[in-house]
Amino acid sequence: GCNPLSNPSLPGDMPIGRINANSFSQYSGCKLFSQMPLSQKTKDGLHEANYKVMTDIQRASLPHALCGRDVLGAAKTGSGKTLAFIIPVLEKLYRARWGPEDGVGCIIISPTRELADQIFNELKIVGKHHTFSAGLLIGGRKDVDTEKQYVNELNILICTVGRLLQHMDETVNFECSQLQILVLDETDQILNKPFKGSLNNIISQLPNERQTLLFSATQTMSVQDLARLSLKDPEYLGVHEEA
Ligand code: ADP
Ligand code: MG
Repeated sequence: GCNPLSNPSLPGDMPIGRINANSFSQYSGCKLFSQMPLSQKTKDGLHEANYKVMTDIQRASLPHALCGRDVLGAAKTGSGKTLAFIIPVLEKLYRARWGPEDGVGCIIISPTRELADQIFNELKIVGKHHTFSAGLLIGGRKDVDTEKQYVNELNILICTVGRLLQHMDETVNFECSQLQILVLDETDQILNKPFKGSLNNIISQLPNERQTLLFSATQTMSVQDLARLSLKDPEYLGVHEEA
């Protein structure tokens, strides 16, 4: 099982530090996805996509994220951050027995349409055995009026900042009061201009009782920025290349 972890967080106002990979939990030494406490549906999706060995950021963050903790993970581009949040999203909703009537359980926010599209594709691959509905809300090619009719029926929203705010502002009965888990990808970008104001607006409309996963390629997030996100005892994980 996935026991609550001890609390090894750094003091609140320290920058994101290095993880001591051996000190966290019974899963911190695991190297393979197959060793992690995942649903068979997720394991099958990973196996079929030929994902076997976890990357460093996945090894560092999954034990915490899977135990429901807020995580702030920094690791360079190409290090596998997408799976580090998609897997906990799938597991969270699966364990909650999230179904079609439950509506929006997860919101994943990306700074660009292209990244949102990549996240959506990865979700479709790894989540293929799950029954959740997911939607890509990125503006541009798709008609927002059509989107408004089904957005409340989606379980997982993958959005750009602008499009999500547009739904919050314009979609009648847009409903995310049951949100279980919020993910910000490229968090450092989203917390800065030009997204800053819109993101504050979005956050103010989300329930506080939720798990929050933040991932970024840099460690430049300030304590003030993070305070806006009302994290609960977050685990700060910085994974760096071996020299
Ligand atoms: P990041 O978001 O950190 O830039 P991505 O999540 O986009 O990185 O992953 C980069 C590449 O690594 C993708 O092609 C992805 O399929 C691959 N990848 C991610 N995790 C693993 C893994 N555990 N094993 C093998 N390849 C992986
Ligand atoms: Mg990424």
